[in-house]
Amino acid sequence: MTLPQLDDSYVRLLHGLYEPWQAAEFPDPQLLVLNDAVAGDLGFDLDELRTPQGVRALAGQELLPGSVPVAMAYAGHQFGNYSPRLGDGRALLLGEVVTDDGRRFDLHLKGSGRTRFARGGDGKAAVGPMLREHQISEAMHALGIPTTRSLAVITTGETITRDALLPGALLTRVASSHLRVGTFQFAAATGDLDLLARLAAYAIDRHHPEVADESTPYLALYTEVLEAQAALLAQWMGVGFIHGVMNTDNMTISGETIDYGPCAFMDRYHPGTVFSSIDTGGRYAYANQPGIAQWNLARLAEAMLPLFADEPDAAVAIATEVLQTFPDRYRAHWLDVMQAKLGLPATVGRELVDDLLVLLEAQSVDWTQCFRAMSSAVRGDAEPARDLFFDRDAFDAWLDRWRDARATDPRDPTGVADAMDRTNPVHIPRNHLVENVLDAATAGDLAPFLDLLDVVTNPYDARPDRPELAQPAPQDAPAHRTFCGT
Ligand code: AMP
Ligand code: MG
Repeated sequence: MTLPQLDDSYVRLLHGLYEPWQAAEFPDPQLLVLNDAVAGDLGFDLDELRTPQGVRALAGQELLPGSVPVAMAYAGHQFGNYSPRLGDGRALLLGEVVTDDGRRFDLHLKGSGRTRFARGGDGKAAVGPMLREHQISEAMHALGIPTTRSLAVITTGETITRDALLPGALLTRVASSHLRVGTFQFAAATGDLDLLARLAAYAIDRHHPEVADESTPYLALYTEVLEAQAALLAQWMGVGFIHGVMNTDNMTISGETIDYGPCAFMDRYHPGTVFSSIDTGGRYAYANQPGIAQWNLARLAEAMLPLFADEPDAAVAIATEVLQTFPDRYRAHWLDVMQAKLGLPATVGRELVDDLLVLLEAQSVDWTQCFRAMSSAVRGDAEPARDLFFDRDAFDAWLDRWRDARATDPRDPTGVADAMDRTNPVHIPRNHLVENVLDAATAGDLAPFLDLLDVVTNPYDARPDRPELAQPAPQDAPAHRTFCGT
């Protein structure tokens, strides 16, 4: 059989930013979930991937031709505190797939055993968190949000120790690259300017080849990263996504969402919503995310300073000027997202949106349900939206203003309502549903997981026969906590 050929450009070009490493040997790797769409897009042969040899390759037990597995080095600010040496503690870059049409993707393992970067960890992963990353990253992709993808989840045949003994698993992940803000921090901290410049050139080549010929390509790269993150954050906010661990090592240069740990989708709107059990200070709460993104981008600028100008003060001035464009960039993307969600023309300002958020918060209204209901209002029936509010008068007053704004819209209302139904999902991976299917999967029953995966990867399709899947958790349920013990 012909296994896919990998390239190793990261290894060839970025010596100093990795440690060559091998995956641990696992007693019994078995395919739990294979992502047919991703495999197909990469040009992989599905039947071959399903053979024992294919599964062993997906689990890093057998090297694909051309593969030079490495643990990637990176640093990072975790909850604001700098760690000079994080890196792939339990992950490996197997190599890069180059598709027939010339696109390059990293093939990466998570849960593949301890590496030199492992510190206190066991290098392993449990089946629940790996399925969680699969489920949520696929939901994000279906929502049109840039993200790493999950190619496969494989059980290892091991039992691993967390709070309880759990079945072990690993994730085979695909990304347009695994370059992180923390990769630049690590390169900068080596003091090797040539390495930093090679990293930046590599990032340009992979993500923004069009800026290579500009007079200041490194600054152009930085500006592109800022822009991609501003757009990404606006999309997160639009669907109520809370990443949970926005450390600089979990922020990509590509603008893809990465590292799904204690992330979750908000149900009832509250800007201070936090799910992660370790985020006790609420640093990464829903409404803080754009500000944290900017903070992380300031750390990226610090790392890149020597590339911007020889003279430090001049470099800081140049970087600051670009960094300060982030709030406006973010707000512009956010307003675009919110106008689309509410069926408003681009001429309507943010005040109307802000005033709706005040109502949603005061009345604990479900984010996803409210926006989805607004397409009915465009079609002439505001009752589904009104039903979500206990103080109808307050909502009606807002609705009158929304109707006035709508009246200025020259577009055909049917087209607007249809577009809203393709931007406002019915189904997000609601935490209480996700936790239930992960519990079942951990106990050996994968069917509920696959059922929910089908629902959240078709997020705009209503399921009138399954209304419970579109409901928030019962209000008296204990506040959900997601754990980082992934
Ligand atoms: P995360 O918060 O999952 O992004 O991980 C932060 C850092 O901890 C990274 O360097 C990971 O490689 C490392 N890490 C997380 N879990 C483990 C584990 N079980 N064993 C070794 N390293 C780990
Ligand atoms: Mg991480």
